Amino acid sequence: MYILVINSGSSSIKYQLFPKHSDQPVCNGLIERIGQTGGRITHEIFKTGAAQTIKLEQSVKDHEAGMQALAGLLTREDIAVIADPAQIGTVGHRVVHGGETLTKPTIITAEVKEKIRALYPLAPLHNPGHIKGIEVAEKLFPSATQIAVFDTAFHQTLPDKAYRYAIPERFYKEDGIRVYGFHGISHQYVAGEAMDWLKNQQAKLITIHLGNGCSMAAVSAGNCIDTSMGLTPLDGLVMGTRSGAIDPSVLLYLQQQKGFTAEQLNELLNKQSGMLALAGYNDMRDISRLYQEGAPAAKLAYELYTYRIKKFIGAYAVALNGLDAIVFTAGVGENDALTRELVCRDMEVLDVRIDIAKNQLREKGLRDLSLEDARTRILVIPTNEELAIARECRTLKDNTHTGA
Ligand code: AMP
Repeated sequence: MYILVINSGSSSIKYQLFPKHSDQPVCNGLIERIGQTGGRITHEIFKTGAAQTIKLEQSVKDHEAGMQALAGLLTREDIAVIADPAQIGTVGHRVVHGGETLTKPTIITAEVKEKIRALYPLAPLHNPGHIKGIEVAEKLFPSATQIAVFDTAFHQTLPDKAYRYAIPERFYKEDGIRVYGFHGISHQYVAGEAMDWLKNQQAKLITIHLGNGCSMAAVSAGNCIDTSMGLTPLDGLVMGTRSGAIDPSVLLYLQQQKGFTAEQLNELLNKQSGMLALAGYNDMRDISRLYQEGAPAAKLAYELYTYRIKKFIGAYAVALNGLDAIVFTAGVGENDALTRELVCRDMEVLDVRIDIAKNQLREKGLRDLSLEDARTRILVIPTNEELAIARECRTLKDNTHTGA
């Protein structure tokens, strides 16, 4: 039997298929531009040792068509990884927002779907896509157990002093306005890997997820005690196209003095800000190239981006009252040596000292970039949200069967 992990977004579906008892996927893929022109499916198979990649340019009308194409690829005679969709015993779904009630991996029922729907106002860009993915998976794999794993769940251990905002309580009680935090599946995964590697389950860690979206978490003995994103994924660090933290009065100023509407502010802060606004590009590979060429805008962008991360490291080291390791992960964190170097430079106060040569090496898997005698480790740990979801599904099913 197999576990199919689905990460269904508003216009894309990412997937990975794992044998029930293995962490090695047999295939993965990405279905892009659903409901738009230029649909594309990339499907990778690992069954016979070397990876085989299939690329299909085809329009994908909606999520149902996308999932049907995926089911078709899994069983297509020449490249089949399973003989029958009934071999998929579990479908694990990444769900961005679980609010305050969906705090653990959960078997999906009508009631759970209702709760995910009730969170649409807090996650309008994500939860509707997840519900679509879930409903199509229920149709295509009717005998499978559908399980939801929530990106907010890891942050539910935050104390109230970290998750409440200093505004009247009714906004929390009536509207659920509080810090939720995101990228929780990734933070939890890399924190777990770091604790295992350090052989210290009590470790004090700062995990830094730097991808298109960027966030940080302060983790003590596996529990998250603070995180940089808030009610939505807009707060905290500077990101590809998002501003991160900004004085709320900037919004009031733009509204009152410049006539910006709520929609325009949303567009400005989520899509036209961050590195795109500072450097003209949102992909770190482009900005890094410009930095090496000496472009002043790219220099400022890198400095602002990494200075913000540094400030959170300082805050979290104090919140944790100690620091065993900082962990870099996701697209930028795993690949961009310049970001890591600028973050870790001039941080002797925390005994964070980076080995510049090791930082430049391109190696796979977990890497330790700290100088031998430094007390605080600097780790790069590739994130793997799909594997984390598959493992959660396994644990939940095992516990359900044993009645635990
Ligand atoms: P993610 O959201 O984790 O998939 O990260 C995507 C982002 O990672 C891209 O937008 C790039 O900014 C960044 N990225 C990916 N590969 C590299 C690389 N080799 N060097 C620097 N940045 C990279």
